[in-house]
Amino acid sequence: MQTMIQSVELYKSFILGTISVEVLKDINLSITKGEFITIMGPSGSGKSTLLYLMGGLDKPTTGKIIINGQDISTLSDQKQSVMRRREVGFVFQFYNLVPNLTVEENIMLPILLDGKKTKNYREKLDEILDIVELSDRKTHTPRELSGGQQQRVAIARALINEPDIILADEPTGNLDSKTTEEVMKLLQRINEEKGKTIVQVSHSLETAKYSNRIINVKDGKVWE
Ligand code: ADP
Ligand code: MG
Repeated sequence: MQTMIQSVELYKSFILGTISVEVLKDINLSITKGEFITIMGPSGSGKSTLLYLMGGLDKPTTGKIIINGQDISTLSDQKQSVMRRREVGFVFQFYNLVPNLTVEENIMLPILLDGKKTKNYREKLDEILDIVELSDRKTHTPRELSGGQQQRVAIARALINEPDIILADEPTGNLDSKTTEEVMKLLQRINEEKGKTIVQVSHSLETAKYSNRIINVKDGKVWE
């Protein structure tokens, strides 16, 4: 089985004024291609920090993150951001859509940022809009959509570059329970049918039940 994400002796500290706060201590994790993982733990325990390290949005203090066989800590900043855009799609709690762009423009953003031609991605866009069931909302702006629809746009944006990995930080944290179920079923479908490796941070067992494995973070350590 192919290892998709691996952390090796991973430590992360933040400097706050004159003190150093050790948030993650010696984290060794291995996530296989096609897994759907939920990271749980108390508020402030380091769940988001771990997720961002896994996606190369932040750098470890010491230790390694290996994505698809590549130790990303050895890459230059530029190569790291290219890797991030190609291999990883991010989804956040508050969607992070650009308010004055339409649904399709928001979804195409990673393509533009990657310096690629959006016209080569029209078919892909239509396929993804179909998956997230927003084909009839292409030209709307985020404020014309419900919370669940906005999160589906964010998921579509995470998929457009065809990354192997989707990282989602409390993707349903701002949604009611009915919409939560819709979004979780969508993520489950993307995991099962598209074979994407998904790591989500979540507070609720309700959403954790859609995943295959739960990783708990507490006092800087993880256990399963
Ligand atoms: P969680 O997602 O589990 O709620 P976080 O990973 O956001 O927790 O944060 C873990 C700890 O690290 C918290 O104490 C937080 O204040 C601290 N922290 C996170 N990011 C930073 C940062 N950029 N600078 C300083 N401290 C940070
Ligand atoms: Mg968090």
